[in-house]
Amino acid sequence: MRPEILFPLFAPASSLKGVGPKIAPLVEKAAGPRVRDLLFLCPQGLIDRRPTTANMAQDGQVQTFVLRIDAHLAPSRRGGPWRVRTLDETGFLFLTWFKGGGPHLEEQHPVGAARAVSGKVERFGSELQIAHPDFMLDAGRVDDIPRIEAVYGTTAGLPSRTLRRLAGEALNRAPDLPEWQDPAWLAKRKWMGWREALVRLHDPKTPTDLELDAPHRMRLAYDELLAHQMAMAQRKAARRRDPAPAIGAGALSDAMEAALPFVLTHAQRRSLSEIRGDLMGGERMSRLLQGDVGSGKTVVAMLAMADVAAAGRQSALMAPTEILARQHYETLKAPLDAQGLNLMLLTGRDKGPGRAEKLRALIAGEVDIAVGTHALFQDDVHFAHLALAVIDEQHRFGVAERRRLQDKGPATHLLAMSATPIPRTLELTLYGDLDVSRIDEKPPGRTPVATRAVPTPRMGEIVQRLKTAVSAGAQAFWICPLVAESELIDLAAAEARAEDLRKLIGPSVGLVHGQMPAAEKDAVMTAFTEGRVSVLVATTVVEVGVNVPNASIMVIEQAERFGLAQLHQLRGRVGRGARESSCVLLYDPPLSKNGEARLDILRKSDDGFAIAERDLELRGGGDPLGLKQSGFPAYRFADPIAHRELIIAAADDARLILARDPSLTGQRGLAVRILGELFDWQAAMGLTDAG
Ligand code: ADP
Ligand code: MG
Repeated sequence: MRPEILFPLFAPASSLKGVGPKIAPLVEKAAGPRVRDLLFLCPQGLIDRRPTTANMAQDGQVQTFVLRIDAHLAPSRRGGPWRVRTLDETGFLFLTWFKGGGPHLEEQHPVGAARAVSGKVERFGSELQIAHPDFMLDAGRVDDIPRIEAVYGTTAGLPSRTLRRLAGEALNRAPDLPEWQDPAWLAKRKWMGWREALVRLHDPKTPTDLELDAPHRMRLAYDELLAHQMAMAQRKAARRRDPAPAIGAGALSDAMEAALPFVLTHAQRRSLSEIRGDLMGGERMSRLLQGDVGSGKTVVAMLAMADVAAAGRQSALMAPTEILARQHYETLKAPLDAQGLNLMLLTGRDKGPGRAEKLRALIAGEVDIAVGTHALFQDDVHFAHLALAVIDEQHRFGVAERRRLQDKGPATHLLAMSATPIPRTLELTLYGDLDVSRIDEKPPGRTPVATRAVPTPRMGEIVQRLKTAVSAGAQAFWICPLVAESELIDLAAAEARAEDLRKLIGPSVGLVHGQMPAAEKDAVMTAFTEGRVSVLVATTVVEVGVNVPNASIMVIEQAERFGLAQLHQLRGRVGRGARESSCVLLYDPPLSKNGEARLDILRKSDDGFAIAERDLELRGGGDPLGLKQSGFPAYRFADPIAHRELIIAAADDARLILARDPSLTGQRGLAVRILGELFDWQAAMGLTDAG
């Protein structure tokens, strides 16, 4: 329930003076529907009206001067502008009226009078002028001119000034709220109170006040991060209170593990025991299994699913594409068969009576593990007793899709898997409501992939070497990036590349792309897996999860266009077998400094988590990671890069607050509740919900 003290801030923005039916929709677009949204609207820039001298006048800048009136220049022709020549000890400046000029100006501002003048300076021929000054006051009143004025991102029909005024009114309605931050922390950071920080936000005193590390901005960012982390921690706690079937670790999965042709790595074993701990606990598991490509997530999931099967319940393993689902099916088939477990594959290609029979077997409980694609969560698919949903490449699914699969059982444990190692700060932001297991170790015996950056003009050499390697039995991926606006253009480029390579290397060059019908895609992938295709040209649709151990060469065109994490993932397709592997990053020269640094990291490191961390550091502001699309919360104050240490602090803080005061009834707990309501994350969190 929203506390009464916040009512004024949650009133509609239209309750502010001057927000009529005409501008209300514009305000909503620029800020949001509530008074709070105007209060939380961050300025995009500022106008610096601190007084300066005429010799500092700059074309295009809003500036303030103290000037003496030197002469009034009446129009030389009818309808011409009225001009006033002014000066200070450093130079001249003209003031111009295209409209509303006239002798009255001479009366108001007689020659010799001193005036404080502020407005936008423009070049006019050889002179600098201000047309229609924003302010023109007695010089003694120069301090009445706002020194630094916040500028807001405008929408057509809604000038920055209006937003500034509305933000000011919203501020007037903002109550003093009890402090939710820890007093010792606040003192250490030397941050001001919440309301004071907002005053400073809308009324900046210096140009640095707009920066992300200004104290008031840090304080507000921390508030926001704390609210978000609290919401996630609370949800995690609430989920824990959801009962779910307790599933023990059994002899069956031990037998399966013993039959594997390898031993689990420490990291796999640790992850598995974390998962088992959850499954045994009688509470609903919500766990993310993070691990680099090739770190061996599948086998961990398999053993967990075997435990579930041994407990007489069903699991579902969902993959984003047909190819991946099929590959999982192939991988799991033999080990599960050996234990007498029933595996089923369900994809969009199952139709008619074949599909009907599969659905029947599923609901009859004859199937222990169902592997599939989106086909698994369709409305007419029912399980007898689904207890575990495993989602591979979980970021490829929407929240609703993941939930639809989970909803196929009464209380389904969730194991989400991600092959995109992400920095810890992002992990906390995106998955703070999940428990996370990290497989941060690769299976032994992998040869590191020799990585080189090569300028595109030397592609010919690369192709020659590729030809030699292929004739010696090697297999290669050749990645064409998505660069054009239109997929069709990219497709044409990939087709042309495949054609070129076919001419140079021979007919065993295959092509796979996103627009291909699933059956064709599978046929090409199968041919590649079986070695009939030696070079696979692909747009980036090459599924992250595909496993072709004999492939040892990866060529990536226009590598500079990819994110580091993505390049690392692509590179992870090779180096899985015994053969020496290599990765060639083709780039269009010249490479920027940053681009060079990025490719360099990749050459030097093979640790996905470390690469992700460096990648984040090397990226600038804005949203270059495409975070918004990947479900990253739309923070108002917090910046995932600039404020990353605050993210970690807020996550720790949230955990501590809940541990000390789970019901949030203490003094700080009550204040934190108000903070939570203020940001209203619970309602907005559908966005980031992985569970
Ligand atoms: P990912 O984490 O990318 O999904 P996979 O589960 O596809 O990785 O595993 C990649 C390959 O590594 C598979 O061929 C798998 O059999 C093999 N593998 C998994 N764990 C081990 C291990 N502990 N030792 C050796 N090979 C392993
Ligand atoms: Mg995988």
